[in-house]
Amino acid sequence: MTAPAPAPQPVIFAAGLVLPVSAPPIRDGALLVENGRIAAIGPLAEIGRDNPGVEVRFFPRYTMIPGAVNAHAHLGFRRGDAPRGGSFSAWVKELVSRLPEKEAWTPEAARYSAREAVETGTTFLTDSSPYGECLPQLAESGLAGTVYAEFFSFQFDTPEEAVDSVEKKVLALREGLPPRVGVEMSVHAPYTVDPESSHLAATRARERGDRLSIHLSESPEEVESVREGTGRGLEDIFGVRADWGGVGVSPVRYAERIGLLWPGTIAAHLATGVSEEDIEILAQTGVAAAHCPRSNEYLGCGVSPVPEMLGRGVRVGMGTDGLWSSPSMNLFEETLFAVRLHGFDGETGLKLATLFGARALGIEEETGSIEVGKWADFAVVEAAPVEGGESPEMEVLEAAADGGVAVTVAGGVPIYNRVEDGTG
Ligand SMILES: [Zn+2]
Repeated sequence: MTAPAPAPQPVIFAAGLVLPVSAPPIRDGALLVENGRIAAIGPLAEIGRDNPGVEVRFFPRYTMIPGAVNAHAHLGFRRGDAPRGGSFSAWVKELVSRLPEKEAWTPEAARYSAREAVETGTTFLTDSSPYGECLPQLAESGLAGTVYAEFFSFQFDTPEEAVDSVEKKVLALREGLPPRVGVEMSVHAPYTVDPESSHLAATRARERGDRLSIHLSESPEEVESVREGTGRGLEDIFGVRADWGGVGVSPVRYAERIGLLWPGTIAAHLATGVSEEDIEILAQTGVAAAHCPRSNEYLGCGVSPVPEMLGRGVRVGMGTDGLWSSPSMNLFEETLFAVRLHGFDGETGLKLATLFGARALGIEEETGSIEVGKWADFAVVEAAPVEGGESPEMEVLEAAADGGVAVTVAGGVPIYNRVEDGTG
């Protein structure tokens, strides 16, 4: 019999400024971390006094913020050879044509993408990959996160076979995972998975209390394909005719009709053709959205009506998408782009990158802000906003977007650290 591992020693992490996001800023603030979770928060003087003998890691000229929550990403694409942007249908066609070549380097790309996320302050990441192929790289990265296993029903004879196969895969992948890493199902998109398979997958996920990820209302071509049945080539991207389009409604209405939308669903993009009526459907069904504005811009997919969705109470988080449609895995950089696009203030921006992402994924009790009881998931950023400054949140968001993350801690464990504490 092996003895149980000794509980890790408590540690106090402290910084010149702590922005908990869900509570007011704390100057010279500190967290007591026990067993990976936040046991106390307050001024360093107080936390230090109450916990004599506990190791202190103090970054006096840095700011501590919650770790970024990436609500939609693909780890398995590499930097530097993205298919050409501008047209979504042309991009996705080229992507599909390169799938055989991609097999050789997907694991390396996934490792690199995960590392980049870690080094830019992400602590929770949502990956979508075919049959969950990027799970090993997420699991070894130190990140908390979920891999959504995509499936493609055209590879099977019946919807039952298609869904059975992905379901079996998901259940197998769940065996022996590190803590805080999970696997769920993804219905890739309205133009790649037929309605019967989509409905069946969603019904089974929902019955089990699982979650679901989908791409929805992303491109003009998708809107056209669902509405009219034509999609400038999108209706046969795998060389198989997708004959279920042309239903005369928006992708959001279509997804609602086939049972894909409930509070456990995260819908990525919602960029093109999202009407007032669609936003009402999103609000009524309680579905959450992942906003990926840089990918939308690269692929000519318009601008997601995020202010309107937030105004109607739709939960919105941020996603980087993958390196074939987006310039980086830096979620803070993605968020700063959204802040400028929609005219948000720094406070909203910092929330979008952290707490709102956690809410969108239904994990706000566990992460997304610096609060007692949550996991100690945070980033230490090279920024020291002066007291009485205009917006410390904006200053820190800009620094984090620009490579200013110096330390990333997930579940109390430093997974990235390029500075010595005390010297900052
Ligand atoms: Zn995506």
